Amino acid sequence: MEANENTPDPQVTNIETSQESKELGVESQESKESGVESQESEIEATPETPAPETTETPEEPAPEEAPEETEERTEPVEVEMPMRAAVLDAKSGVENAIINFLKDGLTNTIFDAVLVPYKVPTGESFVYMLIHNPDLLDQSSPIAPIMPTQGGQALASITRQETGGLKIAAVIRPCETRAAIELSKLSQCDLENITLISYDCPGVLPTAEFIEDPNKAIEMFNEGLNNWNDMAMRPVCLLDSNSNSIFGDLHFGRLGVDGGTMLVIQKTQKGKAVLDALGLNAEPSAAIDTWKAKTNEMAETKRSKRKDAFGTLRSEKMGLANLQDTFSTCINCHNCMRVCPVDYCQQCYFECDDLKFLAEDYFQRANAAGSLNFPPDVLLYHMGRMIHMTMSCVSCGTCEDACPVKIPVAQIYSSVADEVQGIFDYLSGRDPDEPRPLLTYSLNEFSEIGE
Ligand code: SF4
Ligand code: SF4
Repeated sequence: MEANENTPDPQVTNIETSQESKELGVESQESKESGVESQESEIEATPETPAPETTETPEEPAPEEAPEETEERTEPVEVEMPMRAAVLDAKSGVENAIINFLKDGLTNTIFDAVLVPYKVPTGESFVYMLIHNPDLLDQSSPIAPIMPTQGGQALASITRQETGGLKIAAVIRPCETRAAIELSKLSQCDLENITLISYDCPGVLPTAEFIEDPNKAIEMFNEGLNNWNDMAMRPVCLLDSNSNSIFGDLHFGRLGVDGGTMLVIQKTQKGKAVLDALGLNAEPSAAIDTWKAKTNEMAETKRSKRKDAFGTLRSEKMGLANLQDTFSTCINCHNCMRVCPVDYCQQCYFECDDLKFLAEDYFQRANAAGSLNFPPDVLLYHMGRMIHMTMSCVSCGTCEDACPVKIPVAQIYSSVADEVQGIFDYLSGRDPDEPRPLLTYSLNEFSEIGE
């Protein structure tokens, strides 16, 4: 039987198996399922004739057991790393090493096209380009300093209708990879012919600050890229404990690796097939052990920062009154929704005619409440969005970057997402085979909120 290309390479992920089972909640899912089965068999075994009446004093009903406390997870769980990598020559810089890798992929027809960031001719921004000609890769910028468009959204646009069987390599950040995987679970992105290639991500600069002085921003970004400085990144980037985690097929690892080299780490069978076709042999090594140790150290620091930062944010911003204050400057432009990769509805309720009222309706609402804000229903929009997509939020910061009035939307949504996903021990985009909560259910879940 052919291996599923999206399944992790068994050679490289043996260590992960038990860990992943825990992370994916396989054990609890199974026990929940078996709980359902036993309940069903109990129902079948009930005798049809009623039990004879007895004169014995009926037993006191057992006191109701207190529901088990659900421990809230307030930060993403640790993501286990694979242990095999090939070594690439990076003496001419990490971006050139990535470009050479992609060129080899195109010239050897391992890929038909590559999706990679490109600086626009004015130098004031970067866009994703789908490139077939290997020579055009020379002007690409695989590790761009800004992310005006989320790569997961770009991949969804390319593959939503049909893929035409084209094999595409997408060089995107870990949070973009998560978005693409999450969208594939929502049937919004077809990853069958896509090789997802991520890299150690230092974060991205806020687009507005980049545009003010692109040359200075690029200089600052490169300094951070080479020295892993904490730069003036998007706030959620500084708190992303998964910025070097591998969710896709391959990953370029630089952290703690000898300056003249770079690792290309394989995660899946699809990634292994690409390396095999390029004649690259991925194996365990001291270099990958060092990369893993450094990555875990950085993740631990960010996890702790995230917990503190979101703890403060919750105390300052959460609750109806605080949220009303926070969103009081919102102009309801819906930018945060349009740029969000996982805001996937094709027909948005907040943009449909049902929310366009007659003047008389507005009068009635104004009379009933004493007055009516315009734009109206701002909080309704944000609460609706929160309910709708926090299960899938990948904490990429794109919404906050696009907000014209600088509301910390990504921090708010990410904080809620950590709690919502934590309830289900879910991490959006962690694994293509991890079932999305609320699409599956168990009779025994959420007992703490009643029958
Ligand atoms: S809500 Fe914001 S941070 Fe979360 S996935 Fe959407 S754009 Fe990214
Ligand atoms: S982008 Fe900012 S101003 Fe626009 S709807 Fe979202 S929060 Fe409001």
